[in-house]
Amino acid sequence: MNPINHHPDEATLLSYAAGALSQPFVVLIDCHLQQCPQCHEKIFKAEAIAGEFIEHSPPIEASNCEALRDSFFATLNSEPAPQPLAPSGSSEHQLPAEVAVVLSGRDQKLPWRLIVPGMHSITLNSSDLHSSGSSLKLLRIAPGRNLPLHSHRGSELTMVLRGAFQDELGCFRAGDVADLDHEIEHQPITIGNEACTCLIAVDAPLEFKSLVPNLLQPFIDF
Ligand SMILES: [Zn+2]
Repeated sequence: MNPINHHPDEATLLSYAAGALSQPFVVLIDCHLQQCPQCHEKIFKAEAIAGEFIEHSPPIEASNCEALRDSFFATLNSEPAPQPLAPSGSSEHQLPAEVAVVLSGRDQKLPWRLIVPGMHSITLNSSDLHSSGSSLKLLRIAPGRNLPLHSHRGSELTMVLRGAFQDELGCFRAGDVADLDHEIEHQPITIGNEACTCLIAVDAPLEFKSLVPNLLQPFIDF
């Protein structure tokens, strides 16, 4: 397996540990944790020290929440790693069957929906995934293809399951996660000879920067 070079933001991991993420984002983080001992350990440490940290923190004004967060991460990063590493709550969650199929390399059996030539998607529709307005999708992009330039109206987590893509932020391979918000504008393009298949959690539609994708957006469900 490739070394993982791109991880969810620490704030995202903390939200996960606090149970504050919607289900599509939880599932994506679970998927990353299965492949990333580094983040797995951070989650475990966060869960282990969060209760004690809150208990011993003085009362804090709402305006100082950022200071509280910084202080928490300073504590998190200075704590010695617990030994042995116990499994986090993530192990209790089951990944969608479609993700397991992609990881096994048999994804041609899945009911892919054509978006545009070279690009297919599947919206994962299990009952617990759509309670909050966010959604979880698989996206498969053929070699040499790119998504149109876009930014995000909300948050987006993208995890590469197979293949690789490159954008303004770097090169993302299997296991890597791009943790994006409305400030980031990018145009991912697949690299290598293999299609790039990603798991994507979003809480708002993408915001395309050119006319044609904008016109097509109501029809392509992205
Ligand atoms: Zn990680």
